[in-house]
Amino acid sequence: MDKRKFLQKLGVAATAGVTGSLLSCRETVSKKADVPYINFNKTYRWKMTTTWPPNFPVVGEGCKMMADWVRKMSGGRMDITVYGGGELIPALEGFDAVSNGAIEMNHGAAYYWAGKLPAAQIMTTVPFGMDAQQMDAWIQAGGGDKIWQELYEPYGLMAFPAGNTAVQMGGWFNKEINSIQDLKGLKMRIPGLGGKVFARAGGTPMLQSGGEIYTNLERGVIDATEWIGPYHDYLMGFHQVAKYYYYPGWHEPGSVLELLVNKAKFEELPTDLQEIITSAALRLNRWMGAEFDAKNGEYLEKIKAVEGLELRRFPDDVLQTLQKYTDEIMSEMIESDPLARRVYEAFNDFRSTIRPWMDISNKIYYETMI
Ligand code: CA
Repeated sequence: MDKRKFLQKLGVAATAGVTGSLLSCRETVSKKADVPYINFNKTYRWKMTTTWPPNFPVVGEGCKMMADWVRKMSGGRMDITVYGGGELIPALEGFDAVSNGAIEMNHGAAYYWAGKLPAAQIMTTVPFGMDAQQMDAWIQAGGGDKIWQELYEPYGLMAFPAGNTAVQMGGWFNKEINSIQDLKGLKMRIPGLGGKVFARAGGTPMLQSGGEIYTNLERGVIDATEWIGPYHDYLMGFHQVAKYYYYPGWHEPGSVLELLVNKAKFEELPTDLQEIITSAALRLNRWMGAEFDAKNGEYLEKIKAVEGLELRRFPDDVLQTLQKYTDEIMSEMIESDPLARRVYEAFNDFRSTIRPWMDISNKIYYETMI
């Protein structure tokens, strides 16, 4: 190939790379003539509800940071007020409120909508599934975003990945887990598909918003809970009311947090504000993941230092059985739900595409690094 043709090819590839890098599936590159008229005197005031308690560190904190970024990037034309769960609507009712347009945005996680749309759970995480890096790759560059938007379209919603917890911890227990039998009869706060797997092991999964868990664990309404990881779990105070802290978080290997937006209201916005929201969500996505990673090591040490508390690894045979149950649950789910089949097949296709690369990069590196 001569140099000119080679450069031309690079130019084409570079353009495709740019359009492919930021939530590509919904983007097109505007030509100069397409830049629309924008009324810079109009201010938009939006409400963002969240599933998190008011002023919650990282997740709630990040939403307020996002509102601030948007305010600054838009020169004050986009003014988003962030509400904690229960301040404006109950913590887990964001899906309906944004769908019917009462609220413009909600920050939470797609698995909270399992009761309405079971397939949405796959967009948060699948037990023993992809980690944060792989979920980002799938959603932002591997077709996952398109699937997500299709899933929410009938509800007048769009979704942005807007945070990731990375691999979570397995949870807080007051009894030792030495075999799969030890999960039998336990009432545990564990949402999403992980909860279904836990039920197959004989436990009773419960879905509770973050603000309710500590009191329920303290009073024995639940026997165990999972939450996120060392930093957030420590702030929640679970080390004061549980004896054992188990790892790894097999049920949530890289949970994607979600910014839900009312699609019609988003489409009414001038294009610059649409891009500002898209960019701020992407920044929030990265910031939350980085914040969890940065603080988890520090807080793990604090947790290890708590007297009377034991850090434990789930036995291998417990994890293997849970993985077997996960395969069963996922097979049953896709048999009965064509939407879940479509989403899970896309998830698995991407996973099998990225896996050979992960196997000779991250995996080997983590196994061998000193
Ligand atoms: Ca969790």
